[in-house]
Amino acid sequence: MRVHRIAAIGADGIGPEVISAGLEVLEALAARDGGFRLEVEHFPWSSEYYLRHGHYIPEGGLEKLKTFDAIFFGAVGSQQVPDHVSLWGLRLPIVQGFDQYANVRPARVLPGVKSPLQNGDKIDWVIIRENSEGEYAGNGGRAHRGLPIEVGTETAVFTRVGVERIHRFAFELARKRPRKHLTLVTKSNAQRYGMVMWDEIFYEVAKDYPDVKTDRELVDAVTTRMVLKPQTLDVVVATNLHADILSDLAAALSGSLGIAPTANLNPERRFPSMFEPIHGSAFDITGKGIANPVATFWTAAMMLEHLGEGAAAHRLMEAVEAVTASGLQTPDLGGKATTAEVTREVCRRIAG
Ligand code: ATP
Repeated sequence: MRVHRIAAIGADGIGPEVISAGLEVLEALAARDGGFRLEVEHFPWSSEYYLRHGHYIPEGGLEKLKTFDAIFFGAVGSQQVPDHVSLWGLRLPIVQGFDQYANVRPARVLPGVKSPLQNGDKIDWVIIRENSEGEYAGNGGRAHRGLPIEVGTETAVFTRVGVERIHRFAFELARKRPRKHLTLVTKSNAQRYGMVMWDEIFYEVAKDYPDVKTDRELVDAVTTRMVLKPQTLDVVVATNLHADILSDLAAALSGSLGIAPTANLNPERRFPSMFEPIHGSAFDITGKGIANPVATFWTAAMMLEHLGEGAAAHRLMEAVEAVTASGLQTPDLGGKATTAEVTREVCRRIAG
C-alpha cells in the first residue's frame, strides 16, 4: 500500500471549506483505488491563529512541514490583518522556504462552464510563474516614515540561476504538450536590466529545445492576445508579478476564479510541494456553503499527479468534468448547487 502524507492548511475564509471538500474526494479516490492511502494532518495556521499567537507559523513549524509529501493549502487573507502581513506570514515562507520556484497554473474551460469569451473553448493554457524571486523578492525598504520626504523602494531581483531554472522548467513542460509551444512574456522594452537578462537567458535555454516553438510577447500585449486570440497560446512563462496578474485573467476567462488550480513545485523534490486553488479567502461567501470546490478538486488532481497517482488524478478530473457538464454548479458559475452537493456528486461518480 502506497502511503502519502499530506499536510492540510485550510487557513482563512473559504479555505477550510474547500480543503475539507477536497479531502473528501481524495478519500473517495483512495477507497476506490485501493492501492494508496492518505495520512492527513491538519495545521491550524490562519489569520485567526495569528491574532491569538502573534505568528502564523510557530517555532519549528516549517521543520515539521518539511517531513510531509505534499501540502494542501486553502487560502490566506483576512479583513483583520493587512494583506502583506498575512501573505508574508504564511504563504510566502512556505513557498520561498521550500524553494517552490515553479508555479504551474493550467487554464481551460471545463464542460458545461460558460466563458465570458465567445471563443473560450479555445483556451488551453499552462501559465508558468517564476515563484521565488523577481518582483516578490522582498527587496526594498521604507525611510523617513510619515514625513513629507518619505520614500519606499521595491526592487525586483533576477538571478541567472533563478531565471534559467524556470525557463528550463517551462521548456520541459512545453515539450510534453501536443502543441510544444512556449511564449516568453516580458517587459524588456521598458525595464532594461533584469528583464533583458530574462529574455537573453530564455534564448540560451531555447537552444537545448529545438523541438519547442517559441515566441515573445510584452506583458501588456499578451493580455489582448489572451482575449482576442486564445488559440495562439499554449505554455506561457512569466515573472512572479506578471504571471500573478495573467493567471487571474486566465481564471476569469475560463469561467470563474472558483475553478482555477495551482501547484507550487520544488521540481527537484528536496522539499514538499504545495497545492492550492488560485482564489483567495472570498469573505463575501465565507460560511455560506456555496464556495465552488472545483478549483480545489483540480488542485487535488495536480497533487495526485505529483505523488505518482496519475490514474486517480485522471479519475478525479473525469468525475469533476462530468459534474460540471451535468449543470450541477455553484452560484459563481450561474448554478444553484452548494459546495456539499457538488462534492457529494463528485464522490458518487468516483465510486462509480
Ligand atoms: P484575497 O484578498 O484573499 O485574494 P478576495 O476576496 O479579495 O481574497 P478572491 O477570494 O480571490 O479575492 O475572490 C474574489 C471573488 O471571487 C470573491 O469575492 C468571490 O465572490 C469569488 N470567488 C473566489 N473564489 C471562489 C470560489 N471558490 N467559489 C465561488 N466564488 C469564488
